[in-house]
Amino acid sequence: MPEIKLVDLTKRFGRIVAVGHVNLHIRDGEYFSIVGPSGCGKTTTLRLIAGLLEPDEGQIYIGGKLVADVPPEERGVGFVFQTLALSGGMAQRIALARALATGVSLFLLDEPLASLDARLRLELRHELRRFVKDLGLTAIHVTHDQEEALSISDRVAVMRMGKIEQVGAPEELYYSPKTLFVAGFIGENNFLECSVLEVREEHMVVEARGGYRLIGPKARFGRGDEVVLAIRPEFVVVAAMRAGVGEISGEVESISFPGRDAKLRVRLESGEAISAR
Ligand code: ATP
Repeated sequence: MPEIKLVDLTKRFGRIVAVGHVNLHIRDGEYFSIVGPSGCGKTTTLRLIAGLLEPDEGQIYIGGKLVADVPPEERGVGFVFQTLALSGGMAQRIALARALATGVSLFLLDEPLASLDARLRLELRHELRRFVKDLGLTAIHVTHDQEEALSISDRVAVMRMGKIEQVGAPEELYYSPKTLFVAGFIGENNFLECSVLEVREEHMVVEARGGYRLIGPKARFGRGDEVVLAIRPEFVVVAAMRAGVGEISGEVESISFPGRDAKLRVRLESGEAISAR
């Protein structure tokens, strides 16, 4: 059964490093996604695993076996590309059935749902995952849609400029992003530039622009360090009064209703805008 290991995998196109020293371990039976902005190297990674491209450096192991000299048709890999929108996702279903008929147990899916309308995309997400899980397959799904990746996957790798920024379960990426890029790419976030005033046992007190004191999580910073505080919109509470530490004043600029909760855009006195839900 296929677990996949990428060791120091590198692919260049001229001076562009499409994939730069990528290390990844995808477990047998895992539904794994790779997300990242356009051009970050997702498709190239998938094509390297499939054997459609040759790496410049590094190794690929499928099921514990080094596949450097194994041609694509002997890698036991089913590849589903982005297909044209046909009736009700039928093209995607046929592509999967075809690949399955050849006996493969590793599926590589490159933006398989991108051409479908929003409702069908949501429906097929669950179908895809169920298909992979019911049949005990392993899937690597490439998408630029972080919400799709979070809802369908056991684990997700976030790529940026040919490198892996973070790998983790959806909750881990959402609640414990390791970099500012991941914090901004996965879900919605507000960023406030602050400086550290005080580091305590459980948390730190920071000062945002305009002199407002906010509470930040415990982190390895010291007094006077310049930091960026990331606050998810759902953790911002909008209230009519200002009372002290942990609060910051601003003016509600707009209110919209994208569904479930209203979304507020608040312009802070510092000029920065934040979202609240
Ligand atoms: P997208 O979501 O737009 O498909 P991606 O994350 O899949 O993007 P890749 O298609 O892997 O990104 O491309 C990574 C980088 O390598 C980009 O800068 C792209 O322009 C470049 N690239 C990819 N294929 C080739 C090629 N055959 N020749 C030259 N450059 C290429």
